[in-house]
Amino acid sequence: MAAKQLRCRECATEYPLEARYVCSRCFGPLEVKYDHADITDVGEARRRIQSGPQNMWRYHDFLPLEGARPSAHTGLPAGNTPLIRADRLAERLGLREVWVKNDAANPTHSFKDRVVSVAATRARELGFDTLACASTGNLANSVAAHGAALGMDSYVLIPADLEEQKQLATAIYGTNLVKVRGNYDDVNRLCTELSGDRENWAFVNINMRPYYAEGSKTVAFEIAEQLGWEMPDRCVVPIASGSLFTKIAKGFDEFCEVGLLDGGAPIMNGAQALGCSPVAAAFEQGKDVCRPVKPNTIAKSLAIGNPADGPYALDLARATGGSIDSVTDDEIRAGIRLLAETTGIFTETAGGVTTAVLAKLAARGDIGPDERVALIITGEGLKTLDAVRDSFHAYEVDPNIESFEAAFAGQGAGV
Ligand SMILES: [Zn+2]
Repeated sequence: MAAKQLRCRECATEYPLEARYVCSRCFGPLEVKYDHADITDVGEARRRIQSGPQNMWRYHDFLPLEGARPSAHTGLPAGNTPLIRADRLAERLGLREVWVKNDAANPTHSFKDRVVSVAATRARELGFDTLACASTGNLANSVAAHGAALGMDSYVLIPADLEEQKQLATAIYGTNLVKVRGNYDDVNRLCTELSGDRENWAFVNINMRPYYAEGSKTVAFEIAEQLGWEMPDRCVVPIASGSLFTKIAKGFDEFCEVGLLDGGAPIMNGAQALGCSPVAAAFEQGKDVCRPVKPNTIAKSLAIGNPADGPYALDLARATGGSIDSVTDDEIRAGIRLLAETTGIFTETAGGVTTAVLAKLAARGDIGPDERVALIITGEGLKTLDAVRDSFHAYEVDPNIESFEAAFAGQGAGV
């Protein structure tokens, strides 16, 4: 396999590809390193990808798996989500070219299926029999569903006040759903403690984190392939832990390194909700580290008050000439509506954050007249219905024409 070792992002100490997530020398996070020296013919590399299955396993050579490419017909294959040219959204914002990557089209309706697919597959390779996670919702859905599809036990820990839709869409898969009386950071701390003495449990976002995080690169791989092996000039990406944000850039980088793409990373813009914006605040204050916050926002899937990859997200935004911005809950609701009304895509609150930040960048004049922008939509609106409840008007009429016409009187909607 092309994955060679785990390497500390801080001190570069190397480790074998096992269930390990923190450097024992400096406590830095570990990341998977690859050797693609065998890729010498770009045309052949492209053909190899294009002859693969219509899901993220077509990028198997760039993922940290030891065995053969997983079959297209087993488990819960993710990816191959639509990239849609959003001309009406672009026009509304005064931009030239906007593409929406709609990751709500994954099996459990969020991008988390990509990371869980990699973590679960690697967990099986390493001999684990149980999947577990600390989740703000979408991850819970995905871990429970992957456990069901792969025949593995699962334990899903969530904050007790999570949206009802996300709880139901987790419990249905027959998982052990554990509601923790606390916020996500409390849940995460509990899982970290549990992972210490449960040796047969693969916590996808804790001891499997280096593998899990690699799944996010496939968002970049797909965008590049869907654009005809080109990169966007700019990506607008939601930030919770900061992992998706940095891994999308890593995906573009890896394709550039082997010659599948030309040029440098796109300008990277991160999006946070003001009610949980430790990375945006650090960016604005010119700091290198994030001060943890207590989340208070409708964007619960982004409500991580102590983001693990915050410092790397800050570095990336600065290095690419991007930024990390935050938006209010009202702007998030407006972002959900803007995307829905101009593209037909109904996103959850995280997508409202991302769309609202795109609107903010456009209004601020940050986006050049010739830019091609990719907007990353990570989840489905039906999971966060409370955010838009009572925000629109419906007409209630009796089943006759007079009543119908009376409802629209004065609006010119009738004959
Ligand atoms: Zn280290």
